[in-house]
Amino acid sequence: MAKEKFTGVKGMNDMLPQDAPIWQHVVSTAVEVLERYGYQEIRTPILENTRVFTRGVGEVTDIVEKEMYSFTDSMNGDQLTLRPECTSAVVRAVNEHNLLYGTTQRLWYWGPMFRHERPQRGRYRQFHQLGAEALGMEGPDVDAEIIMMLARMWKALGVGPVKLEMNTLGAQEERAKHREALIAYFEANKDVLDDDAKRRLYTNPLRILDTKNPDMQALVEAAPKLLDFLGDESRAFLNRLEELVSAAGIEYEINPRLVRGLDYYNHTVFEWITDKLGAQGTICGGGRYDPLVEMLGGKPAPGVGFAMGLERVIELMREVGNVPVRTQTDVYVVHHGGETQKAALLLGESLRDLGVRVIVHPGTASIKSQMKKADGSGAEFVVFATEDEMAEGCVSVKALREHADRTVAFAQQQKVAVSEAARTIAEALAALR
Ligand code: ATP
Ligand code: MG
Repeated sequence: MAKEKFTGVKGMNDMLPQDAPIWQHVVSTAVEVLERYGYQEIRTPILENTRVFTRGVGEVTDIVEKEMYSFTDSMNGDQLTLRPECTSAVVRAVNEHNLLYGTTQRLWYWGPMFRHERPQRGRYRQFHQLGAEALGMEGPDVDAEIIMMLARMWKALGVGPVKLEMNTLGAQEERAKHREALIAYFEANKDVLDDDAKRRLYTNPLRILDTKNPDMQALVEAAPKLLDFLGDESRAFLNRLEELVSAAGIEYEINPRLVRGLDYYNHTVFEWITDKLGAQGTICGGGRYDPLVEMLGGKPAPGVGFAMGLERVIELMREVGNVPVRTQTDVYVVHHGGETQKAALLLGESLRDLGVRVIVHPGTASIKSQMKKADGSGAEFVVFATEDEMAEGCVSVKALREHADRTVAFAQQQKVAVSEAARTIAEALAALR
């Protein structure tokens, strides 16, 4: 009988051990920056009641219309959805636990999100976002500070130059007027609209501006601009944001067509974009969503935040050649089995007591084949706990790699008393770091 083959779900990736260092590095670097700005972690479940997203993200968005993994819980009939984004879930949790009672919140999260899209470079069905939400603060100072924080993160991560585009979605009444003008404009040009646009004409005409259809570019280019409908307050908000971002020395461009895929935004929207990743060049999107807390049943409170796509960020780091190299083993211990194996295991423990990462060769094998494993492990030092050495109460230590800029201890194989071995090796390692 043919063996059954098992594969992962389409568009969902395994993170293999060789990729673990870069994922850990990206998250810990980002978190280190987030903490400098007073953000605290929040974790919400992968599953939410579907209403959290239909209400929070909006019924006529791409996400809710066609990208959500939703199902009925067969045990009790609940309508559930694998989270396609986390802002709605965070706000749901904040409301549920009264986290805005008499205070503000700066929160960050990271984890898998799920969207049923066509898998391609930079677009997956399970992907990972790291994001933050600042809740209960009016802005635009907070909006500007979030942008400063992101600029700092890009620098810390070494993603190379990324472009910041900003826009404003104004206030609700301004958007309503703009919306009327847009509908009138698109009605007058109905013959140019594609099916998607026709469908959105009365539900979400703003989203038509976001079209990727080349045949509609001229049309949307000339469409009425929200900027022309802004009142004094919205203009002042945008001006102050621009002033603060400029003062921090961050370059940006105002892109009047930037609308973002989610319904709940007002005032600030922004994206960070690279030209190094092809069509999926947006590594981070964010903006202000003052209506959301109330929409999800809370007492009205303003909010602003962002989410970055970690797969895209990591691919960009690879593209610019900035992937940290981190070996996984410091010391590899070889032995002759029996009593020498016991000694090897105990030496391993003493080394680990001192913070050293150790592999003790499993099982028994010739010293030659153990040496091959030692070399392949990336370890700096190999330790021989062989019968001859052990008979003398010693092990011997040998450096496995050279360091151009430093002299390395144990460049020549050398004996060390067992009682001294752990401390001596730990010191030799420390000198290389
Ligand atoms: P896009 O226009 O690329 O579909 P979006 O507007 O749907 O993006 P957001 O909902 O704003 O994306 O999510 C924020 C970030 O998450 C994006 O800028 C991107 O980096 C990342 N992202 C979104 N969808 C995916 C996906 N399917 N696969 C990988 N990363 C994604
Ligand atoms: Mg999308």
